[in-house]
Amino acid sequence: MSGHSILYLGRGEFAADYLGELETLPCCTYLTRSTSFELPEDASYIVDLILLEVGPMISQSGQSLTDLINHLAPYPVVALTRKEHEHRGIAAVRAGAQAYICVDDISVEDQDAAFDHAVKRGRMQSRLSSTDVTVLSILRNINDGVIVVDDVGHVLDINPAARTLLGISPRMQPDPTWEQTFCCVDENGDSYRNSADLPLMRARMGEKYSDQVAIYRTPEQPDIALSINGQGLFDGKRDLIGGVITFRDVTESRRKTQELEKRAQFDELTGLANRSLFAEQLTRAIGRSQRKSAPLAALFIDLDRFKSVNDTLGHDIGDALLRQVAERLQSILRVGDFSGRWGGDEFVVCLEDFGEAGNAAAAAQKLLLALSEKYDVGNSEVYVTPSIGISMYPDSGNTAERLIKAADVAMFEAKKRGGGRFQYYSTALNAKLEQREELEAGLRHALVRNEFVLHYQPRIDLATNRLIGLEALLRWNHPRFGLLPPARFLPILESSGLIHSAGEWVIATACRQLASWQRRFELPDLSITINLSPQQLLHNRLVEVVSRSLADTALDPGCIELEICDGDVVQQRTAELETLRQLRRLGVRLSLDHFGTRDVSFESLDNGFVDSFVLDQTLISDIEENKSHQRIVRAAIAMAQGLDIEVAAEGVETVRQLDFLKSCNCDLVQGFLISRPMQSEKISAILRSEIAGTSLLSRGMP
Ligand code: C2E
Ligand code: MG
Repeated sequence: MSGHSILYLGRGEFAADYLGELETLPCCTYLTRSTSFELPEDASYIVDLILLEVGPMISQSGQSLTDLINHLAPYPVVALTRKEHEHRGIAAVRAGAQAYICVDDISVEDQDAAFDHAVKRGRMQSRLSSTDVTVLSILRNINDGVIVVDDVGHVLDINPAARTLLGISPRMQPDPTWEQTFCCVDENGDSYRNSADLPLMRARMGEKYSDQVAIYRTPEQPDIALSINGQGLFDGKRDLIGGVITFRDVTESRRKTQELEKRAQFDELTGLANRSLFAEQLTRAIGRSQRKSAPLAALFIDLDRFKSVNDTLGHDIGDALLRQVAERLQSILRVGDFSGRWGGDEFVVCLEDFGEAGNAAAAAQKLLLALSEKYDVGNSEVYVTPSIGISMYPDSGNTAERLIKAADVAMFEAKKRGGGRFQYYSTALNAKLEQREELEAGLRHALVRNEFVLHYQPRIDLATNRLIGLEALLRWNHPRFGLLPPARFLPILESSGLIHSAGEWVIATACRQLASWQRRFELPDLSITINLSPQQLLHNRLVEVVSRSLADTALDPGCIELEICDGDVVQQRTAELETLRQLRRLGVRLSLDHFGTRDVSFESLDNGFVDSFVLDQTLISDIEENKSHQRIVRAAIAMAQGLDIEVAAEGVETVRQLDFLKSCNCDLVQGFLISRPMQSEKISAILRSEIAGTSLLSRGMP
């Protein structure tokens, strides 16, 4: 510490020996005393620091403290007071003094440091450009915290707001290491590795930044999150001489945001982690597993026949069941393992630290048994079984996304083998996963690359044996795999949300094609059936798309039949019902597809929404010998006649099936017996022969 020449202004209000003490301070090389509160006329020597007694004498001198300190500028002033009058010191700092000390309550070292600090600060202030001086004096009095450091990191100024925010007492003057400890933790609570990231350091290096969130951490109080702006301080010659930061407390607003974020990370129904959080946790678990060289398992769980629970018992029961499944999952899992809800009736689990790979199977078996036990939901006893797919890190994949997909593929395999079982992901399934990924990627471009095509399957009116309509069936002309049926890509379209744009394309294309056939072959009554996925009913664009297609083609809306699934009507959910209502208002016909496959069907017919239904293939395929199916089909047709609803049967492959349907007075039939779905050109040929009276289709007909 270099020696300073000190001017003492005061009338000796402090004990006389204080002055004596001062002379012995290492920083003090020269001491002059004045009792007049005036700068000595003869200022031939250099004053480094003024010590100013702040007491009643000042007011007696007739000047205000602010005037006096301003008058003493540009010399740095340290106010002297006693502990019992500490407020005077604080007032002096507010009035522009660099610091204050209580002469009866300070060690020699601290006093020395305080003087030295005031000198440095004064020197810097005198070098500051005039704009920076103004800016700093404004900053000192704002509500934001302000800290000024010199070019080596000494804290020169902490404004009152900063002291209040950080809980720093007015007298405490940070030591030179403070720069390293002040907000040395970033917003995630991790220490900055690089000291150039420290807020004060950044500012005094001349970097201008805003909204750096950092944590102020001290043992005495809870963490405070600060949002900090910083910049360098320059002298009149634009030389960097320090830095200033301003900051505000964002602890509360961050807590609120974090709470919202947290809410966005958890599934509302079950309280489990949602997709994104689970994937994040899995990624971290993979990191741990990699470091420990220990295996990790991802489980994909899907409830068998959950849809039928929803359809038969209603959504509330379905929801309650999902909540119970989540509770069971959580109660079975060991500490350290975690679970999430992937969507609908799909759950995901991560198992860690299970020792040998085979133990994952034991865990899956345990889950399988527990989830298969009876559920008491409302007044119902519900039984469901899970299908579980297991993928292992690192064998099945080394990213969270890949592991989940692999487990999903394995789950699908478990389902295919009858459900209620678990299945490991294997190399044989690998090919399937790769194909699925390729399909998923390809589907995103299928529309723009014109790879979708519609095939059309004729529908015959059994009363007249004439072709009266066509069902439009989507195909994907895949560049590598060739023509793919909907079963291969429809689930991906639906789960990726691409179903909306693909569905729009189907509607527009089918309507255009029908309009063209109607005109070309003068068949104004020819109708088209278009399949809708359940999600499409939830999208309000659907009504707009249908009405635009009608307007574009000038088709009679009664020639368009939209096929929806049973559950969509039965569930009576407001959004879907509103869409159905609007569609009906457009004049298009609505038809229930796959009738007879779900547990409830009859009541969906009685609500006036549908004009027809399609008996599902599974009912028809064994109708020749399955007496129960025969009874169902007969009853369904009889009931439909009573309700004035049209009945179509699909999947008719044999003459005997056709005969049976005729005997029940089924209205329409469709199936390989009559014609397979075909490209539009072939349908054109069929239509031509139909109007020429040389039906190509009646060959198979009895
Ligand atoms: P779906 O509506 O029940 O369509 C009838 C399905 O049965 C078609 O399969 C058709 O090729 C097939 N089929 C017709 N006659 C027979 C027969 O005699 N025997 C047998 N075994 N099968 C027959 P496809 O084209 O593979 O379509 C499957 C399902 O994909 C459709 O079932 C429909 O639910 C859905 N789908 C097709 N196109 C679309 C579409 O554009 N949008 C939506 N959302 N779904 C579509
Ligand atoms: Mg259909």
